[in-house]
Amino acid sequence: MEIGKKNAFVEFLKKYGIYCIVGIIVFAIALTFTLVATLHGTVETSTPSLNFRLPMSNSTVIKDYSDTELQNNETLNQWEAHMSVDMTSETGEVFAILDGVVLDVDYNYLDGYKVTIEHSDGFKSIYSSLDENVLVSEGYKVSAGEKIGIASNSANGELDLGSHLHFTLLLNDDHVDPNNYLDLQQK
Ligand SMILES: [Zn+2]
Repeated sequence: MEIGKKNAFVEFLKKYGIYCIVGIIVFAIALTFTLVATLHGTVETSTPSLNFRLPMSNSTVIKDYSDTELQNNETLNQWEAHMSVDMTSETGEVFAILDGVVLDVDYNYLDGYKVTIEHSDGFKSIYSSLDENVLVSEGYKVSAGEKIGIASNSANGELDLGSHLHFTLLLNDDHVDPNNYLDLQQK
């Protein structure tokens, strides 16, 4: 009886084993495709296809971003990290880098006139050392590339740099290097 059962099983495998193997292979391939498609979808949704515009056109970077290396601030006579990029241009015009909503228009002694814009995907951009004639106000819906003001020397903390834009980019409220997102060096 035992042997009979065994033989029947072997006979079954001989007859249908190939179908089982083919079935398993087809299942494995389908599973792989599903996983790859899922992973790919996840990557695509977490990588924003944001269309960044430059905050100034034909600009020159006069002081670059540094988060660990200290740079000398001649105005304040101190060495400090500079988690922003300072730049100038002939016209001094300053533009919003992305669509967004103006969170704040503010003045303080060290930063001068300052506009903060909130964008999608956790980005905020901050434009400091603007002149007093800021073209946007709190709550205004701004478009990428829209002019928001003119660079000046209103930032008393960076007077040695003359008229310029002090540009800051935040991602989830942490400073990030704008050079990673924008071709500020325009090389
Ligand atoms: Zn600066």
